[in-house]
Amino acid sequence: MTLFEKIIAREIPADIIYEDDLCCAFKDIEPQAPIHILIIPKKPIPRVGEAESQDRVTLGHLLLTAGKVANELGINSTDEGFRLVINNGKAGGEAVPHLHVHLLAGRQMEWPPG
Ligand code: 5GP
Repeated sequence: MTLFEKIIAREIPADIIYEDDLCCAFKDIEPQAPIHILIIPKKPIPRVGEAESQDRVTLGHLLLTAGKVANELGINSTDEGFRLVINNGKAGGEAVPHLHVHLLAGRQMEWPPG
């Protein structure tokens, strides 16, 4: 079981802010911005590079959920804004091998990213 599967199963506590049949969203334990939410599929796809065509509904749902969460947090405007990040593999900065979308907001984002 991945760490994030344990969060879905409530075996490890997390501040879950949204959940449905396909995904779960919770606050990152080490926030990199005033708002830092992780949106994960309930199906333990390790990383986006290993997703398959049968996962397309789940993958699309993660982005739609990010928009929904941003709406609920009041940051879904062109003035406020937010950043979505998916780290894939070692050089991509991935630490947890369970696909997750980072939703970061509440400060000005820099480009290029670190
Ligand atoms: P990655 O580096 O794999 O893209 O992101 C993993 C993220 O998971 C990190 O931002 C890290 O802070 C977060 N994280 C790691 N362990 C836990 C945990 O036990 N609970 C929560 N809520 N977040 C975690």
